Amino acid sequence: MFCFQCQETSKGTGCTKAGVCGKQGNVADLQDRLIYVLKGIAYYNSIARKHGSVKSSTERFMLDSLFSTLTNTNFSESTFEERITEGIKIRDSIRTELESKGIDTGTNTNVNVPHPATVTRDELDVSENVGVLATDDEDIRSLRELLTYGV
Ligand code: SF4
Repeated sequence: MFCFQCQETSKGTGCTKAGVCGKQGNVADLQDRLIYVLKGIAYYNSIARKHGSVKSSTERFMLDSLFSTLTNTNFSESTFEERITEGIKIRDSIRTELESKGIDTGTNTNVNVPHPATVTRDELDVSENVGVLATDDEDIRSLRELLTYGV
């Protein structure tokens, strides 16, 4: 676990064992995985937006999911498990719909497709490399997290 999203963060640098807020490591890891899946949805949704086929239900799911990862909002392990499963279904259904219309998603040619767009549930369940610290460069990491929390 590594979380530094709020002002309560341990020693002003990051909660690494358990959150000062009470969040446990398993929940923090699930939140990281959910956000990773949301990035995959965003990839296909941005293509769908260019073609005028974004669904409001997808956007609702993304907003609700992001909100659920905020400080003290939700510590339910089962909720995050369910959201990850649902998120992967949504992501894959957008991709299938786009490709059924002949729209290039890049997935079949693997050009510039980010890993969250193709990661499987099994890969995600064992991945230790999807959270904040997965980005080595401090500046890029900082900008990424700023964007995530800003959204
Ligand atoms: S949300 Fe909780 S775990 Fe994250 S930085 Fe704040 S106190 Fe720590």
